Amino acid sequence: MAALLPLQLQPAPRRMNAPRLPAEPGREASATEVQIGPMRLTQDPVQVLLIFAKEDSQSDGFWWACDRAGYRCNIARTPESALECFLDKHQEIIVIDHRNSRYFDAEDICRSIRATKPSEHTVILAVVPRTSADQEETSVLPLLNAGFDRRFMENSSITACYNELMQIEHGEARSQFKLRACNAVFTALEHCQEAIEITSEDRVIQYVNPAFEQMMGYQKGELIGKEFTELPKSDKNRADLSDTINACIKKGKEWQGVYYARRKSGDSIQQHVKITPVIGQGGKIRHLVSLKRLCCTNENNKQLCKSHRDENYSGDNSQSESHSFKCKNRRKDSADVKSISSQSSDAPSLQTRRYSSMARIHSMTIEAPITKVINIINAAQENSPITVAEALDRVLEILRTTELYSPQLGTKDEDPHTSDLVGGLMTDGLRRLSGNEHVFSKNMNLSHSHLSVPNTISDVPPCIAQLLDNEESWDFNIFELEAVTNKRPLVYLGLKVFGRFGVSEFLNCSEATLRAWLQVMEANYHSSNAYHNSTHAADVLHATAFFLGKERVKGSLGHLDEVAALIAATIHDVDHPGRTNSFLCNAGSELAVLYNDTAVLESHHTALAFQLTAKDSKCNIFKNIDRNHYRTLRQAIIDMVLATEMTKHFEHVNKFVNSINKPMASEETSSHSEGSDCECTANMKNFPDNQTLIKRMMIKCADVANPCRPLELCIEWAGRISEEYFAQTDEEKRQGLPVVMPVFDRNTCSIPKSQISFIDYFITDMFDAWDAFAHLPVLMQHLANNYKHWKMLDELKCKSLRLPSENNN
Ligand code: AMP
Ligand code: ZN
Repeated sequence: MAALLPLQLQPAPRRMNAPRLPAEPGREASATEVQIGPMRLTQDPVQVLLIFAKEDSQSDGFWWACDRAGYRCNIARTPESALECFLDKHQEIIVIDHRNSRYFDAEDICRSIRATKPSEHTVILAVVPRTSADQEETSVLPLLNAGFDRRFMENSSITACYNELMQIEHGEARSQFKLRACNAVFTALEHCQEAIEITSEDRVIQYVNPAFEQMMGYQKGELIGKEFTELPKSDKNRADLSDTINACIKKGKEWQGVYYARRKSGDSIQQHVKITPVIGQGGKIRHLVSLKRLCCTNENNKQLCKSHRDENYSGDNSQSESHSFKCKNRRKDSADVKSISSQSSDAPSLQTRRYSSMARIHSMTIEAPITKVINIINAAQENSPITVAEALDRVLEILRTTELYSPQLGTKDEDPHTSDLVGGLMTDGLRRLSGNEHVFSKNMNLSHSHLSVPNTISDVPPCIAQLLDNEESWDFNIFELEAVTNKRPLVYLGLKVFGRFGVSEFLNCSEATLRAWLQVMEANYHSSNAYHNSTHAADVLHATAFFLGKERVKGSLGHLDEVAALIAATIHDVDHPGRTNSFLCNAGSELAVLYNDTAVLESHHTALAFQLTAKDSKCNIFKNIDRNHYRTLRQAIIDMVLATEMTKHFEHVNKFVNSINKPMASEETSSHSEGSDCECTANMKNFPDNQTLIKRMMIKCADVANPCRPLELCIEWAGRISEEYFAQTDEEKRQGLPVVMPVFDRNTCSIPKSQISFIDYFITDMFDAWDAFAHLPVLMQHLANNYKHWKMLDELKCKSLRLPSENNN
């Protein structure tokens, strides 16, 4: 066997006549630096295998050429030893003697070497006999087919051999050396935990790694050479998403985002995907490299994570170290930014800059609360089952809208009473017609001298005083007060209530100033309005005072809040024209123009009240309080009056429920200790935001408390508001304005139906919440009775306030 291994690791003894050529300086066994892409490699001196059955001048030529070039050279004499030597050394260049077939078949040897894996990167040279001038040039193809790369015409000159080897080293051998480095890259890809897919520019799959196979459930043989879209066909956003990705990639930019992909089994998984275009020859995009990671948001993903982990830990024959597949919280890079494009990989500095600015955005300290909420939800999604993640997606969609508190009414199925009421009360400048201006009292009524009013509360006539004795009861009859005061209930009730709450003491003003002020305010209510007159203001003042007497409310607010609430209730509808905001906007009224169709009436009531107060020092209740107190008080009053605007109804109610009711309920369930109630209300006092929510809710409830009054009062209010709405509809028709609430047509309206709708839509939830806070069993009982009354009438198809039989009584 030893004879078969004539491996000569040292140059064979030179023939005496062999030319002595000095080795080129610096070439002896020196390593060379080679760059491929971002990789730097060191190429060892080239190794050459000479396969020559017999030593002759040609084999010597190559031998000495190798010596000169500093290559390591082996010589094999037989096919077997050649193969063995090659499998041992993996030489970069093989030279096979193809001049005569007497000793071995050069093409056979070449083929047998080519059959081995390492020959993939070896250059094989055939030494062929010199052709004489009269011989025809033979084709190179049989050599190429046998696996040769080059043909060398017999030439024993060392220089010729040297030049040939040099060309091979700098050309093909260098390229092959670089390609061999790709094995390292592929090894990395094969062992990478991230799923990787490489496609052509037109998305034909060229490569997928095992992590990809596992994630998507396909074998690579099923994918390679095929076009494959993992975006679920049913996904309505699929086309949009594809367009977005393509548009980004076409510009040579990287795309990254999160989408649901369909696995072979049909289930979908949420992936964080990064697609990078790779620019090749001609500056064209030649490949797309996709990196995919699972977002552990759903059950499918978690299953996959688990199986991946199990696989890595079980049957580890590969001697490789196994790593658990961790689903990290990747909020920072997946973010709620579904699609982040960045510069292509050939612009790393730009890319880095972009990433760092993204990171800055995420670490911003001045985050709006809504941003924090969105971020928290995003983070929660990462670790939630798919049902929760999808529900949270819908939550995010809603949170990104601007109208967070306005319920959306179904257009078809909704009862017209509800839709009219909602449309009429909750919209303002949406429907506008120009030219038909509604004219109402423009002149401020500053006179109060013509009214016969008491000088002090102790001066009031006995019949009024007697009535007012019952003022603290919820069942107090405001209409009786209206009657006995000749439609001036506000002054009388005001004096009594403001006195009870020490308002003039707080404001440091005389009772005369307070009285004058109440008179001015009352004078500026329109007694001609069926509903929005000073009796309504007095009613709201009464309800506010009642609420202020409730333990929880009293405990939550301070004296300034009480004074502000009583003043706000008094002024909250001053100079009300008996028409809704929508009407004023449609009519292009002066007020609507002044307040830009936004909270027109509420802005007017507040502004006018402060104007009237400041105009005459005789009625200026604020003249003696210091600037800071005044500003705080004024702010609280404005906030409360503006809160009566119905377009913000659901906003105020929901904020109250979320910030007051819910925390209180959870506190109550968690602490059963006595005195927790006190703790609760004491806590409110420490939070001005909560106090604001309580005050808003209080005035809102006081403003529409009429469905919670005793039945007779409730019926009277329903009659009055209906009459005011009818009058508006009459005028809209007369003036050719849009009819804001068509159901409020005096000829056709069902008042019970309208009350049922009003209670269902605006009252029940709000009073449930307010009752949960302030504890108002009497009101809730009235509300239930009144609702029953309207239901009973409606069932009997009665459209008026009472049954006809009752009307006759
Ligand atoms: P305000 O104009 O400040 O009194 O705001 C309360 C709103 O609720 C007004 O637009 C009233 O028209 C409306 N409203 C009050 N009570 C009723 C009721 N019983 N039926 C229908 N609408 C009502
Ligand atoms: Zn009101």
